[in-house]
Amino acid sequence: MTAPATEELATFVTTDIAAITRGRSIALRDLDAGMEKGVGWVPANLALTPFDEIASPNPFGSAGDLRLIPDPAAKVRVTAIPDMSPLHFYHSDITELDGRPWEGCVRSMLKAAVADLEAAAGLRVVAAFEQEFQILGADWPAAPSFALSAQRRADPFGPLLVTALREAGAEPETFLPEYGRDQFEIVCGPAAALAAADRAVTIREITRELAAQFGWRATFAPKADPAGVGNGVHIHLSFTDLDGRPVTFDAKRPGRLSERAGAFAAGIVRHLPALTAFTAPSVPSYLRLQPHHWAAAWTTLGEKDREATLRICPTSERPGYDPSRAFNMEFRAADATASPHLSLAVLIRAGLEGLRANLAQPPIAKGDPAEMTAAERAGQGIRRLPGSLPEALAALDADPVVRGWFSPTFLDCYFAMKRKESEIVAHLEGRALCDRYAAVY
Ligand code: GLU
Ligand code: MG
Repeated sequence: MTAPATEELATFVTTDIAAITRGRSIALRDLDAGMEKGVGWVPANLALTPFDEIASPNPFGSAGDLRLIPDPAAKVRVTAIPDMSPLHFYHSDITELDGRPWEGCVRSMLKAAVADLEAAAGLRVVAAFEQEFQILGADWPAAPSFALSAQRRADPFGPLLVTALREAGAEPETFLPEYGRDQFEIVCGPAAALAAADRAVTIREITRELAAQFGWRATFAPKADPAGVGNGVHIHLSFTDLDGRPVTFDAKRPGRLSERAGAFAAGIVRHLPALTAFTAPSVPSYLRLQPHHWAAAWTTLGEKDREATLRICPTSERPGYDPSRAFNMEFRAADATASPHLSLAVLIRAGLEGLRANLAQPPIAKGDPAEMTAAERAGQGIRRLPGSLPEALAALDADPVVRGWFSPTFLDCYFAMKRKESEIVAHLEGRALCDRYAAVY
């Protein structure tokens, strides 16, 4: 008797407010029907902390039923990971049973933000996530930062990762050894906002799965070692009009940001303290968001400065080169404990507030805020970002504009989950705190 061929599974996934990708699988043979009707989902799942304990009470309790409906345009199928069955999944939306978007679905929130930006401002966001991670457990000999030898120690991890990401449609651009210990970075091409956020998740999942095949752990946690370098998620943003023409660049204006891009930046800078509650939403996020970490610590728009929270990126200055399409700004106060969809959604919402209010572009920060007096900082309108998760949550609580983007139920769940998460790790600090998060992220 011959054994039956192993069936392939396809998984419908959602990446939630804890930035964990969860889902349910069906057999490939049932995929056509499954694409239509999705799979069941549970509202209270949104209250899950990264450490599995659920926040209780939460707005949902044991009540209610939802559907996880796959997006056929967000298919990922990867066969390049050795000794694993195909990694086949679909980024999915959480809907009510009648198909309406569920108020707790962050992917639907991003879609709504994109639609509102198009309708209200005639702009489309093009985004790319640049993500850093560290390999744990490889037991490599030390190698210098950025060194060829640092990359070759990991071989064939790099080529396999690029192959798998290409197969997943993630358009890998650069794989590099970074500054931190056993730290790497993966940069993928720009895409429309929703595809870019999906892609950020896809990259994390593939990287972790591939590293595990080598017997290592890839962690994207904001700090794997309290004394070490942080792992950032840098979100690059640019705009086109509805015909796809680039509209971010204006050579005549400060920082070369177009008037509309400047107003968008102003909205982000204005709401930054509250935004960090979503983009840097964990306890160790604030070990990273410190001055002189090349991360982000102040409400600054900067040019060619890796301490700026919103950094205007350089372009090629070759004669004859048109920088208008590549020109972009980079949001640096994000990390992988944040949902990419929610992060991008709040950046777009904040930018849209700036556009609607026709805010003036913030001044391009000059000098190092950490070296300035309080009066000098105030003169440039520079505020410190929250210094801890409780401070970030308090900033969110104090910003009615940002709270107004969400349903009260969603916010109740978000605060409850984050408070529970803080409580679970309250007895941990330093190394133990970083280890706890690195084991999950
Ligand atoms: N590792 C830094 C961070 O935590 C970023 C370094 C860089 O500029 O790439 O964001
Ligand atoms: Mg980097």
